[in-house]
Amino acid sequence: MSSSRWLLVVLGFIGGLAVASFAGSLSTAQAPPERAVAPVAFKSEDPGLRGLDANLYMQTSAEYRACCYQAFNLASARLREALVNKPDKPAVVLDLDETVLDNSGFQASQLRSNLAYDPRLWDIWEERYGANLLLIPGAKDFIAEAKKLGVTVVFISNRNERNRAALKISLDRLGLAITDEKQLLLATNISDKTPRRQIVEKDFQVLLYIGDNLRDFAETFRTRDIKDRTPDELEQAILERKNTVDVERQKFGTKWIILPNPAYGEWMKPLGQGRADLDRLVPEPKKN
Ligand SMILES: [Mg+2]
Repeated sequence: MSSSRWLLVVLGFIGGLAVASFAGSLSTAQAPPERAVAPVAFKSEDPGLRGLDANLYMQTSAEYRACCYQAFNLASARLREALVNKPDKPAVVLDLDETVLDNSGFQASQLRSNLAYDPRLWDIWEERYGANLLLIPGAKDFIAEAKKLGVTVVFISNRNERNRAALKISLDRLGLAITDEKQLLLATNISDKTPRRQIVEKDFQVLLYIGDNLRDFAETFRTRDIKDRTPDELEQAILERKNTVDVERQKFGTKWIILPNPAYGEWMKPLGQGRADLDRLVPEPKKN
């Protein structure tokens, strides 16, 4: 047998195994009648690299850009609608990271260095790499429009209060200068934004909340503490958040505007179990 023919047989064998494994992952109830699958070679993928596509989606896809514009266009329309009623002291509240500020430089360097997220690395990024911050498409125009319409813009971010000065330099550079310190509410010791939302709501009528993480809207979206990280417990944590979204469905696109963030966020907390995460990927959707 020639070496190229031998290679084809080997690839065919590997391909056969891959097809068997792929078919085995589908439930028999949904599987179509069996038919012969031509043996071909399949490319395997390292689940450890899965953050790659999420970050590439944000950095290279035109679709991500379109989603951002869509979110801010909707925000703009809702804002104009709400202003028809001439609210007293109107405000909009925006999160910063991945809502207004693009941190893809951090994500990229983390991925390229093979490092998992670490708050110490993030702190260095906040403190020293403000010059690398970019803007999320549509954010700046929306903020400018809100201000022009007489609406106060407040940022509630979990960036560290300690790095306020560095952040303000960046915001200034990006054309989003902070003129009133009360319009930039950063994290001191808790990530729960509820008390900061209450501060704003005391002084203003908040017309819209804009964020990329559901906790930018309400703390009920926090992933509950997972003690033993059993598969059932992890599954429960995931389902609880989805159910809360269902309960609050009317607020999305009306009072709450969410931006896509496939790279990180509260949703990832029950994950990070290495290959065990693959068991979560099932052909049958767990919730419609
Ligand atoms: Mg954010």
